[in-house]
Amino acid sequence: AQERYAGLRDQPARTLCGSVIELTMNAGLMADLPSLASSGAEGVGLFRTELQFLARSKVPRRGDLAALYLRVLNAADGKPVTFRTLDIGSDKVLPYMKRPEEPNPALGWRAIRVGLDKKGIMRMQNQALIRAAVGRPLRVMFPFIAQFDEFREARQMLLDEIERERKLGHDLPTDLKIGAMLETPSLVFAPHQFYDMADFISIGGNDLKQFFFAADRENERVRRRYDTLNVSFLTLIGTIVARCREAGTPVSFCGEDAGRPVEALCFAAMGLRSLSMRPASIGPIKHLLRRVNLDEARAVIEMSRAAGVQSVRADVTEWLG
Ligand code: PEP
Ligand code: MG
Repeated sequence: AQERYAGLRDQPARTLCGSVIELTMNAGLMADLPSLASSGAEGVGLFRTELQFLARSKVPRRGDLAALYLRVLNAADGKPVTFRTLDIGSDKVLPYMKRPEEPNPALGWRAIRVGLDKKGIMRMQNQALIRAAVGRPLRVMFPFIAQFDEFREARQMLLDEIERERKLGHDLPTDLKIGAMLETPSLVFAPHQFYDMADFISIGGNDLKQFFFAADRENERVRRRYDTLNVSFLTLIGTIVARCREAGTPVSFCGEDAGRPVEALCFAAMGLRSLSMRPASIGPIKHLLRRVNLDEARAVIEMSRAAGVQSVRADVTEWLG
């Protein structure tokens, strides 16, 4: 199937109305990186660093992590890589880390909540990222930020590490961009200072959808009940896009839905200009985006919405023909 889209590899995802959508890929293992060149991805929009923690029997050492991240940056060959700090807990449990028994792990002690409570691991990971990116740009984002203070604190921790390296006389990354993953509905309504402070925002649609509809992403029975193209969810996406635009903050979408054609089209129609997905989805999504007019797609969505439907999927699919 990749062959079919090979001719598009070096072409931009430019729509008929002239909008250019950045298409990046999700990754987490060294083995994913060759796809960067073969898929035509413009970078790694989400590098899930926990996979390398999950694959070990004990906490990796800072030097080993730094070496790994350096290999990732080298493999990316100048294309931007956005590292997401450790996202553990819930469905991703480290065998060597003691954790409390929790009745609702998805709503529990996970991701940035662990990072801010157990600062040692996060500090070590920040140091490894900084050292790997010496002499080049570094992009880091924090998972599962639910309120402004969590972002402020996590960001300050990273800045403190930069300062520490500077004092030690070490070389530094040439540029640092610090972002937040927007995966809880509460963050959508954060004070505008949050949007001003974030260098970029990445919508973690898998979790955002789970919490928006209160439907476990791991539970097939309830998961399929709620369509991503539900008008309420699209309104949420539109609100995020508007708030980011107001603050001048770049925003992308990195959940699995970005790699589904009708979803990707609707996200673009709602104003998203950057999508991160499985490498295999890049060709098909680019192919689709290059043959649509987003103003028309948006009109179809608005008409569908005005008619009171629950999901715009049927109307958009029919329009696509
Ligand atoms: C998400 O929640 O959409 C996301 C990209 O992160 P993960 O799937 O790793 O939770
Ligand atoms: Mg997530």
